[in-house]
Amino acid sequence: MRSLFFEGINQVGWRDIKEPQVMSDHEVLVQTIAASTCYVDNMIISGKSPFEPPFAIGHESVARIIDKGEAVTEFEIGDVVAVPYHRSCGECPSCSNKKPLNCDSKQTPLIPAYGMPDGENFGGMFTERYRVPYADHALIKIPDGLDPISAVAAGDTLTDAWSTVVPHVRNKPEAKVLITSNAGYGLYAVQWAIAAGAGLVTYVDDDPTRLAVASELGASTVVWVDGIELPPIYDVIVNERQGAESLRLCLLAAAPGAVCENVVIFFEDVPIPIGQMHYSGVTLRSSFCPSRNYMPEVIQDLANGMINPRLVESEIVALEDVPKRFVLPSHKPIVLFEETPE
Ligand SMILES: [Zn+2]
Ligand SMILES: [Zn+2]
Repeated sequence: MRSLFFEGINQVGWRDIKEPQVMSDHEVLVQTIAASTCYVDNMIISGKSPFEPPFAIGHESVARIIDKGEAVTEFEIGDVVAVPYHRSCGECPSCSNKKPLNCDSKQTPLIPAYGMPDGENFGGMFTERYRVPYADHALIKIPDGLDPISAVAAGDTLTDAWSTVVPHVRNKPEAKVLITSNAGYGLYAVQWAIAAGAGLVTYVDDDPTRLAVASELGASTVVWVDGIELPPIYDVIVNERQGAESLRLCLLAAAPGAVCENVVIFFEDVPIPIGQMHYSGVTLRSSFCPSRNYMPEVIQDLANGMINPRLVESEIVALEDVPKRFVLPSHKPIVLFEETPE
């Protein structure tokens, strides 16, 4: 069975690994239907993370249940499901307090997540089959009639982008939203912001392809250049662009009382314009997303046609082309593991 491994900087390749099996009564085994990359994969592949190769990568996929433990009662074999990138039990005090990233069942100092070297050996999601523990808690069923591929990122970036935009815009209708990006996440954020009723959505990037997509989705676009400045008018700000300069741009663009969501994982400390922040009173939040908390609402929003995430896809990549195409992954490549997903 094939699984995609990070083998070294700008090197990924398929390995033949042992077939996984259900190991506990609360687990299911799933067959991957489709998988995609997020900006974290780009960081790993390009050597911009502290994670040493080799390990199995991938933490965004939609899948079909093919086997299940005896304690799993909420799902049947054959169900198509969205799978969170993080693993959590759903029952411990942390999970009960809606903090699944701090699940007490974890055996790793890192967030227990797929596609990371976290020592729990669940592997990555660019794989034909994988195990999901605590399945009754973890999984969200894809409703009949919803294209499963549209939910490929529902366990990660699609829901993360929902969480950094939709609740804030609902709190402030007609909000002015600023999104800085250099991956597919920012385009999902554009879609959610417009669908939630933002009054203005400004999208900043340096990639002509993504800028064109953002424009088609309805955003005003600004080309990123070093030293760029924006007026301090934005109520909701999402920084998903690598580098301290983008975070600085975002914080200086805050309107009084704004909220700035930083999505970028900084592995080193970065300076922030704390003096100006004191005047605007901007709230800066920097966090991984506890996706599982928001996935039911996201899947419902997709089923209601609130957005079409497939407009953000950059390409369909054949399995044999993945090692070559993932050296510099495009912003939202889709890898199909089944020829004709239902
Ligand atoms: Zn991710
Ligand atoms: Zn837990």
